[in-house]
This record gives sequence, C-alpha cells and structure tokens, in this order.
Amino acid sequence: MKKRLVLIGGGHAHMVTLASMHEVVAKEHDVIVIGPSDHHYYSGMGPGMLSGTYRPEEIRFATRHVVEKQGGRFIKDKATGIDPEKKVVFLENNEPVPYDVLSCNAGSHVPKPEIEGDREDIFTVKPIERLMEARDRLKDHFKRHTAHVVIIGGGPSASEVAGNVWQLAAETGRQMPRITVCAGSRFMSRFPASVRQKIVTTLTRREIVIREGVYVKSVSAETVTLNNGETLPADFVFLALGVRPSAIFAESGIATGPDGGMRVNRFLQSTQYPDIFGGGDCIYFQDQPLDKVGVYAVRENPVLYHNLVARLEGDELMPFDPGGDYLLIFNLGGRVGVLKKRWLEFGGRPAFIIKDYIDRKFMREFQAIE
Ligand SMILES: Cc1cc2nc3c(=O)[nH]c(=O)nc-3n(C[C@H](O)[C@H](O)[C@H](O)COP(=O)(O)OP(=O)(O)OC[C@H]3O[C@@H](n4cnc5c(N)ncnc54)[C@H](O)[C@@H]3O)c2cc1C
Repeated sequence: MKKRLVLIGGGHAHMVTLASMHEVVAKEHDVIVIGPSDHHYYSGMGPGMLSGTYRPEEIRFATRHVVEKQGGRFIKDKATGIDPEKKVVFLENNEPVPYDVLSCNAGSHVPKPEIEGDREDIFTVKPIERLMEARDRLKDHFKRHTAHVVIIGGGPSASEVAGNVWQLAAETGRQMPRITVCAGSRFMSRFPASVRQKIVTTLTRREIVIREGVYVKSVSAETVTLNNGETLPADFVFLALGVRPSAIFAESGIATGPDGGMRVNRFLQSTQYPDIFGGGDCIYFQDQPLDKVGVYAVRENPVLYHNLVARLEGDELMPFDPGGDYLLIFNLGGRVGVLKKRWLEFGGRPAFIIKDYIDRKFMREFQAIE
C-alpha cells in the first residue's frame, strides 16, 4: 500500500536515505523532505570554509536537487512542530504535511547569551551558513582595520574557529586581529591534558589569548562583558557554546531526554510514537547518551534508512550499535590539526592532512549522487 515518508532536515543522518530515495519511490511510496535551505553544509569542514581552505560549494550537498531528481518532493521551509496523534508536521510558511512515517534529522543550535542592542556581527557557529557570512565580513574588515575578535566557548568549535579566523587574517588581511577565546571555567576541559596542551600551544603561539575562569555575562554594541565586570572590545563575536537539540520535540509534547533531544530506543525510534524515527544531534539515544558529533550521525545512516523502509513495508527493525571510540581531529587553521584515537595522538600538518582526506572523501561520496 502506498504510504508517505516525511523527512525533517537533510542532515548527516539522512545521507543514505537521501541517496537511496529512488528505491523508496520505486516501492510506490511518497517521499517529502523539509529543509530551510536547498543545500546542507557539512559542519566538519565549516571552520575550514571560514578560513578559506574550502570554498562553500566544496562543503555542501544539493539536497533539493537530489530529492527532486529521484522523484521526491522538497519543501523549503522549517518544521515548527509535530502533532504525533494526527501524524502531521507543522511548517513555518506552508500548509501542515501529513505523514505515515516521519524521520527527524533537525540537528542542533547554539544557545544565545543575553545580547543588548542590535548587533550584526555576532555569529553562531551553527548553522554553517553563518560562518560563510562571517568570512566575508571578516575578510573585508581585516583589509582595513585591526579587529578585535571574541570567541565565546571553550570546546572544539571555539578552538577551530579561533585557529581558522587567524588563518583567514594571515592569508588575506593587512592587519592581524586580536583574537580572544572566553573559555568559561577551563578550555577543552572534556579532553585529556595532552590534547588540550597541544591545542593551547598552537593557538597561543599565534598570540591568540585564551581566558579561563571567566564567563561572558552580556554582549552589547562593541563589547563583551565578563562576570567579573571586565569589558573586552569586540568588533566580531562568535558564539561557540555547546549545542542544544532542536526544540520541536519538547514543544510538540514528544518524549525527550534530559538534553531536549527526542528520546529514541535502540531502533532510533521514538520511545512514545513508533512511526517517528530520528538521528544525529536532535535525538537522545536512551540506551547510551551519545556525544553531539557528526560521527554518530554518520554511523546511524544505514540503520535509520533500513528502519524507515521496514516501517513503511511492515518488516523487522534493526538495532543501532553506536560502536566504540571514534577518531577525533581538530582543524586548528594554518593547515595544522590535532588527532586523537584511543592511545594514538599527534598534532601538526599530518593531522590536518588526514582530516582533509577523510572529509573530502565523505563529500565526494555523497556529492556523487548529485
Ligand atoms: C563548527 C563545528 C565543527 C564541527 N566539526 C566536527 C567534526 O570535525 N567532526 C564531527 O564528527 N563533528 C563535528 N561537529 C559536530 C557536528 O556538526 C554535528 O554533530 C553534526 O552536524 C550533527 O549532524 P546533524 O545532521 O544531526 O545536524 P546538522 O548538521 O545540524 O543538520 C541538520 C539539518 O536540519 C536542518 N534543519 C534544522 N532545523 C530544521 C527544521 N526546524 N526543519 C527542517 N529542517 C531543519 C538544517 O538546515 C540542517 O540541514 C562540528 C560542529 C560544529 C558546530
């Protein structure tokens, strides 16, 4: 019997489903994909795009094109809510969309601190489209002035943004900016001391200042105010605070985990509504809470695709195994990185080359379907 599969978001966890959509259409099912942009940007390469290592077209997937080419329908819009009883998705600018089976890959966002007044030059590290705007604004500014760039956050994305803003200035500017990272209690606190030290050494060698033990209280016209009362000049501010899952589940009354992500069982299926599935940053995998990294979204792909088709066809679902330790590579700009996998750890150019190779390979694989 003909059914309708609706996908919210064309993110990392939907790559295999998007690539295999023709198979679902061939089984006579309708497929609708909802996304706010015709493209999906690969965040792992976002900081590299900020510095100019990659062009925007190199790090994005043509979601609309891929969907329409395979006989699906793409709706350029944002999902604002779900009625899981009536089985419809509400959109910002279009009519509600009914579904038989729904898959959610709506990602995560960066929470904003208190901001006073109107500030155009505050950039969140997500969505990645914002980093593209930041790159153009920074490049223009670096040619003429010494800028003060403040990065709020003390984790991997703050490190990567700091290093890549430095590279952008070094390669395109006349004046080097003053870059300050406001890292909260401790910079890269979730990582082993040896990884942390390698990153600190690379950044401080470039005169990037890392402030620890201070929190940002507010952001206003041209300053950032810290909780100790100090104010820092800030022409550009990057918000690289930890991400939060899309709020649509909690707002729709669908069971969530403590982080607000949709609570799913080992089949990546809502614990409450068996026709709703999900993957990536927007879910809370209740058997084993997962880090918000693209690695898990990528690993979930084949299982999510299998289970969506199985639910449409009445077949058996497959459990997801998150697997063991994952490879971490940070792109610190200047074409150097830091790599860590279990006991193996090194920094410098080889780490960047490995990340560059893996990321380009991932892009080639999924851009090929375009
Ligand atoms: C700067 C930065 C660098 C990173 N580097 C790495 C890295 O090197 N390696 C790694 O493993 N992880 C990295 N991460 C983490 C990684 O980005 C996330 O874990 C990953 O993006 C999660 O994928 P996702 O598909 O769930 O979400 P996203 O990549 O955020 O994709 C979600 C998609 O849903 C769409 N969407 C959002 N809201 C809605 C809505 N309401 N309706 C419809 N569509 C919607 C978005 O447009 C987007 O296309 C990085 C994160 C950042 C911020």
